[in-house]
Amino acid sequence: MNSFRVLESDVLVIGGGVTGTRAAVSAFDAGASVILADKGIVGKSGGGPVADSVTAALGGRPPDSLEIFFQDMIKSGQGLNNQRLVRAFVKDLYEGRLLELEKYGIVFARESDGTLSVRQMGGHSNKRDVASFHAASMVNVLVSEVMRRDIKVMSETGIIRLLTDQGRVVGAVGFNRKTGELVVFRAKSTVMTAGGGDRPGGQERRRGTRRRSWR
Ligand SMILES: Cc1cc2nc3c(=O)[nH]c(=O)nc-3n(C[C@H](O)[C@H](O)[C@H](O)COP(=O)(O)OP(=O)(O)OC[C@H]3O[C@@H](n4cnc5c(N)ncnc54)[C@H](O)[C@@H]3O)c2cc1C
Repeated sequence: MNSFRVLESDVLVIGGGVTGTRAAVSAFDAGASVILADKGIVGKSGGGPVADSVTAALGGRPPDSLEIFFQDMIKSGQGLNNQRLVRAFVKDLYEGRLLELEKYGIVFARESDGTLSVRQMGGHSNKRDVASFHAASMVNVLVSEVMRRDIKVMSETGIIRLLTDQGRVVGAVGFNRKTGELVVFRAKSTVMTAGGGDRPGGQERRRGTRRRSWR
């Protein structure tokens, strides 16, 4: 039988891509003890290292609006998106959450008047894509922020089961693929940032084209 150990934290973040590292930094800065677990190598795994822009900005210029952005995302997701999550995502972007990343040193392309330089991308009815000199290394910048903090990083530890108590998630069970060790995580909050459900560009490839959905 495999050995296992028990680790406790206020917050367990599952997935160490751009979303997970950002969540871990936020939780830590809010005063929580944090464990970040990834089935691959944190900073190397996921889609972050290959992205060359951020298709997430809402220029806020007419004719764009929160509602149009929301509708675009629901349409591109073929109605499968969690609409509450999409609403929250769009609202955060509208309020400028993307720009929070600048304090970590990520530079976004801007026009001469200082406004974000946005480009048109597939799946969007308005210009919302911001080129970043650091897009491909954005996850590295965020990993550096994780490393600066007392956040426990556990690479190569895939989460195989969420633990619940009376219908509430109270942690998870992980499997370290290098050591074969099982880890029981007990956490007050568990944040799932394990990536999307589709494969890259899946929607458009299924239609027989080679275009990627974010381009
Ligand atoms: C080739 C390519 C090019 C792209 N270009 C762009 C672009 O130009 N602009 C743009 O905006 N977006 C682009 N994207 C999309 C963008 O990279 C993703 O939207 C973004 O990286 C998603 O980040 P994430 O942290 O939510 O998920 P991910 O980056 O997918 O990270 C999820 C993490 O969770 C881990 N994980 C999964 N399951 C488990 C588990 N059971 N236990 C523990 N860990 C787990 C994975 O190992 C991974 O590290 C591109 C994607 C690809 C593949």
